[in-house]
Amino acid sequence: MKLTYFPYTLYFKRPFKIAHGIRSTTPIVITKIEYEGMIGYGEASMPPYLGESHETVLSFLKKAELVLSKFSDPFEIESILIEIDGIEKYNTAAKASIDIALHDLIGKIKNKPCWQLFHGDKKDTPYTTYTLGIDEPEVLKQKVLEGEDYPILKVKLNGENDKIIIDTIRSISNKPIAIDVNQGWKDKHLALEMINWLSDKNVLFIEQALPKDNLDDANWLFERSSIPLFADESIQRFSDIDKVKDCFHGINIKLMKCTGMHEAHKMILRAKELNLKLLIGCMSETSCAISAAAQLTTKVDYADLDGALLIKNNLFDGITFENGKITLNEMQGIGVILKAL
Ligand code: MG
Repeated sequence: MKLTYFPYTLYFKRPFKIAHGIRSTTPIVITKIEYEGMIGYGEASMPPYLGESHETVLSFLKKAELVLSKFSDPFEIESILIEIDGIEKYNTAAKASIDIALHDLIGKIKNKPCWQLFHGDKKDTPYTTYTLGIDEPEVLKQKVLEGEDYPILKVKLNGENDKIIIDTIRSISNKPIAIDVNQGWKDKHLALEMINWLSDKNVLFIEQALPKDNLDDANWLFERSSIPLFADESIQRFSDIDKVKDCFHGINIKLMKCTGMHEAHKMILRAKELNLKLLIGCMSETSCAISAAAQLTTKVDYADLDGALLIKNNLFDGITFENGKITLNEMQGIGVILKAL
């Protein structure tokens, strides 16, 4: 099997503020694995705060090329992924780009969409949330209007103007909201106070309220919260699930954190055994990685897969949304077509 890859840069439709300036781009790498005339596509997305870059992913993939050249058959996926995982300790996005391309390839060889290979029922997909970044009230209102087709809003908070943000949204919309605090509530008592204030405001769940490593306080909050709490930054891979099971009601699985679809599926099965709720999320990605993640959404409670809607230069056509509901297609593999380079 032959692996090729190329770096690319995604541009946001709407650049946004971060701590030290404005973020307007995300680096990605597209991977291709060829086998008997068929091509499987994959993608690594590297938001700057996760420590991967074009350089680290390209250097990882150079090593992965050698591993893949030793295997003649994509159906050896389990052994391939174990070897790929062993190349370096981290590089989870680079690993995911191999995993996704292999799944796409296997679907194409078997002439089946991946959601069928995972024994999913197309009808069971959730709605995606529509993300509202932190902004001034007037911009927020405009974004709520832009997301009118989406029945669930995802609202980012950071502990600064949280009540103003929520009041602004509630002044024009009664839609259920999912909240992502991104570790922004530094104190468990203040966090509980905010949760109590939010308890009659139609909030579905709150993601990563406290700093990621503070599991003692997460457990304290978990025992008192009237709103379900989800782990995002506190959980990366399969081996983390048991550590957080008494600190959260649910977990956010992202392919770029957990090395891809194979491990994400294992995480879904384990989380269900532990009665944890499930959310599948994404980074800023093209429809390639988004469609890969969507193949697993028939098995989860919530999805946050609007990443490709927020970029200008999406290289792929893939899964779509019908009034916000994730709509899987019948195409083989991860269901994508490369439309431009
Ligand atoms: Mg999050």
